[in-house]
Amino acid sequence: MRSLASVIAVALIACGAPPRASSPSREPPAAPFRFHVDFWANLNQVLLHEALVPRPGFAGPKSLGGQHVVRADALSAEETARWQASLAYYDAHFTTRNLFDHFIESMPALLGVGPWPSQRPAATSALDEEWRRSLVDAAPVYQAHFWTDDERTDRAYVERMQPLVLAHAEWFEKRLVAVYGMPLPATPIDVEITPVVPPYGGFTQGEPPYDGPNAALITLSSRDPSYAGDTGVEMLFHEVSHLIVGRVEKALDEAAKRQGTKLPPRLWHDVIFYTAGHVAQERLGAAYIPFAERPSARLFSADDPRLIVLRRAWQPYLDGHTTMESAIDAIAAAPEFSR
Ligand SMILES: [Zn+2]
Repeated sequence: MRSLASVIAVALIACGAPPRASSPSREPPAAPFRFHVDFWANLNQVLLHEALVPRPGFAGPKSLGGQHVVRADALSAEETARWQASLAYYDAHFTTRNLFDHFIESMPALLGVGPWPSQRPAATSALDEEWRRSLVDAAPVYQAHFWTDDERTDRAYVERMQPLVLAHAEWFEKRLVAVYGMPLPATPIDVEITPVVPPYGGFTQGEPPYDGPNAALITLSSRDPSYAGDTGVEMLFHEVSHLIVGRVEKALDEAAKRQGTKLPPRLWHDVIFYTAGHVAQERLGAAYIPFAERPSARLFSADDPRLIVLRRAWQPYLDGHTTMESAIDAIAAAPEFSR
């Protein structure tokens, strides 16, 4: 099992590259996202989630409160044995801390592969034979009992989100590209929909120049209420922000080093939460409360020093009153972080 440090390293790689001069930029296209509902990606996420459901001494995934998303009591004895054998593979290999590594490696191998039984994924360096076999062995059980419902839920989610995305995407993309100063992909961003995306409900991989292993891919939960409706719009663009936060992340590190100060770990991710929430409020109206600032999200409390500093030092940049560099210098100088 890999350590937290390696998870953070992967997150930094995914989000941390500086902009490249040759990166393609674009005007937002008419359909900025391509939504997908793939059998094998769904099965993989369900097995991941089920293997991580909390048990004594183990908190499990945050998304959906760690509740089961399949009814194992609907299975025959033979199906139960088959399903449990596949779950055992996931249980032995994945934790809430190493999931991101595996997302990055395996998801591309599971996309666009037609459903069982006519199609099955090939073993690759990212999807080893034992993992592939555990998916193939669970596939008939998933097909017989769970896929129809999951596919219907996923497609209904896409249908509900499409009008919101079409109404707001162009505005959000322009706003976020201006805030982060990095380009989005020149082609529509692929978004895979699955019932669960442990541990948080959404995940993004990719970075400029968005080719080969750097291709942009967002995976979103169709069942997690944090990704539905207006909140879903904010969280979709939270995920998009992961693609283009690299310059801000690098500037935060450099400013802290220059000033000899220490920032809270992963402050760049708090910047994403704050920014996506507040630009969503700009777009959706003052009554819209940013996701991270709702008590139910348990992310920023009202007296959280990160929130206090971002309001004071980052909001003026969002309002156009200062430059990104000055805002980041002010964040790095915040006395709240050196207490
Ligand atoms: Zn995030």
